Amino acid sequence: MTRSRGDGLPPTAHAALPGISKAVAEKLGKLGIRRRFDLVLHLPLRYDDETRICPIREALPGRELLVQGTVTDCDIKYRPKRQLVCRLGDDSGELTLRFLNFYGSQVKTLAPGNVVRVFGSVRDGHFGAEMVHPRYRVVAADAPVAQALTPVYPTTAGLGQEGLRRLIARTLAEEPLAETLPVALCAALGLPAFAAAVRLLHNPPPDVAQSALQGRVHPAWRRMKFDELLAQQLSMRVHYQRRRAAGAPVLRARGKLVQALLARLPFQLTRAQNAVLAQIREDIGQAHPMQRLLQGDVGSGKTVVAALAALQCVENGYQAAVMAPTEILAEQHYRKFAEWLEPLGIGVAWISGGIKKNDKKQQLINILRGEATVVVGTHALFEEEVAFKNLGLAIIDEQHRFGVHQRLALRMKGSKPNRTAQPHQLMMSATPIPRTLAMSYYADLDVSVINEMPPGRTPVVTKLVAEERRDEVVQRVRDACMAGRQAYWVCPLIEESEKLQLQTALDTHAHVQQTFPELRVGLVHGRLKSAEKQQVMAAFLRGEVQLLVATTVIEVGVDVPNASLMVIEHAERMGLSQLHQLRGRVGRGAAESTCVLLYQGPLSSNARERLKVIYENTDGFEIARHDLQLRGPGELLGARQSGVPMLRFADLAVDLDLLDAARAAAEQLLREHPEAAKAHLARWLGGRNEYLKV
Ligand code: ADP
Ligand code: MG
Repeated sequence: MTRSRGDGLPPTAHAALPGISKAVAEKLGKLGIRRRFDLVLHLPLRYDDETRICPIREALPGRELLVQGTVTDCDIKYRPKRQLVCRLGDDSGELTLRFLNFYGSQVKTLAPGNVVRVFGSVRDGHFGAEMVHPRYRVVAADAPVAQALTPVYPTTAGLGQEGLRRLIARTLAEEPLAETLPVALCAALGLPAFAAAVRLLHNPPPDVAQSALQGRVHPAWRRMKFDELLAQQLSMRVHYQRRRAAGAPVLRARGKLVQALLARLPFQLTRAQNAVLAQIREDIGQAHPMQRLLQGDVGSGKTVVAALAALQCVENGYQAAVMAPTEILAEQHYRKFAEWLEPLGIGVAWISGGIKKNDKKQQLINILRGEATVVVGTHALFEEEVAFKNLGLAIIDEQHRFGVHQRLALRMKGSKPNRTAQPHQLMMSATPIPRTLAMSYYADLDVSVINEMPPGRTPVVTKLVAEERRDEVVQRVRDACMAGRQAYWVCPLIEESEKLQLQTALDTHAHVQQTFPELRVGLVHGRLKSAEKQQVMAAFLRGEVQLLVATTVIEVGVDVPNASLMVIEHAERMGLSQLHQLRGRVGRGAAESTCVLLYQGPLSSNARERLKVIYENTDGFEIARHDLQLRGPGELLGARQSGVPMLRFADLAVDLDLLDAARAAAEQLLREHPEAAKAHLARWLGGRNEYLKV
């Protein structure tokens, strides 16, 4: 036997597929089939109709069908190239079969006089209707036809349809297709039984509405989609409950510090801010960890909500940590928190990869002793050397930028070996995701939404300008800066290489400096040392830099109210949420703000659509909804969301009603039929932790 790559498979892969050779198991693995039951869940892409023999006369071009006839002629032709050409006739007419590649044995099977049954798509040939490379076999004239549509499965190289069909048919015959759901639930939702749905999808009867199968709206399809969504919801609720079972410090609303900060703020909280704050304050007063996601569009004022939550934590004698994904953003939070909290006598510490060794050492001591009550930082907060005295609340800004493991690491900071208490967790995101996605992917979290903007904002005006009219843009930038305002100039995005991105930033900066000799131009990009980055940002905030050339590092969270103009070069290369985030950097002060999207034609239809969406919409949730349609949920959430399950069958853009039902059913099952929930999870997850989130 040859040693195939299959030897590298984990031993379980093979053991879970008894009676299947290692080589085939490996190919099945490529299709995501690792257990026998995965074969049951491997559903057809489409079907061939071999249940009816069509008279040859009715075999019109463009149709895919089954015919049967007697071979009248079979010849190897040499022009225009070597091929096997065969004529087939029945009572109604004649058809040509053409094989451009063929074996000698085929010449024998297709010998004149043989009766063959042929399936293929018909096209218009030189001599009337013909089929090229049809599937065929020699039959007895009265051989019965198929009783069900023939499934066509997703497959992979080296694994033929026929083999896969046989394997799946065998599995269907042998596996018990037990029902996991209470009958009443299926009845209430109008869904068929699992076994019936599976059998129908693998072997649909000839009279089934094919379009309903193809469109995946047939009740059998809906059952499978529902089951999949239910498994997802169940798994996430189980994790939610498991985490909820842990203990957490009770952080009561005492009010003194919170009131003091509220009194000092130059503004009043919006109704939405007050509402989410009330939810958070209630949550952290419980003896189990909060797991809340705070969603709010760019500029909706999440930071102050976070600060007030941190204060409630501090009032109870616990530490709070605030973490942001970029140095710029973390630094900005640090400044904001220090400005708000230090006058109240609260020590705020700063931890980042960039701080000096000795400073860091001192900060680490402060954190360990509890002298630093609020700690702000970047990923550096995850590091092992950072040890808290008593972490009560972890706040994670732009949570989607962090991986699952990082979030876990911060949570573990709260739990000492001899204690099971975990800190409360508040995650924040300015990348709004549509409600459908939020329900699906954040089913393991409680979600709050800030759905209104602070008053007094003037909406940003968006302009689409073709590269050819760049001069006008230059003039606009000059005018704005000369009038005392500030502007961002965003470099084109070079996704392929960091090195090229850096070069582009440097080139753009040089060019912008040349274009505006009278302006003080700064540059900030991802490769700058953190101290340099901070210097530039601080100078921009103080107004010393008038025009800031930037890469997309400024995409998240940066808050400079006097900046009222943004130019984005090659906007056509950027994604919708990126454009929305970038645009959110302006329009933060009282002055009317403008975002100029410079684009270079010709535009792909997708790029055109993106620019249209960003031009026509300012609401982040609305933009996210379009983004979902343009890109699909997988890409929308991004690879960073490791641990996010990808749905195979359900389509969140279409199956919203099923998602709603699955969510409700998950709660009910866990409460009333825990055994059924367990069986359902085992069937759909089979030991994989695909739906696990932290
Ligand atoms: P984001 O939700 O994008 O993180 P920020 O928290 O940075 O938004 O808030 C944007 C700006 O709005 C900040 O300058 C902040 O101080 C200000 N702000 C927050 N809440 C209010 C409010 N209720 N009224 C007026 N301004 C507010
Ligand atoms: Mg923010």
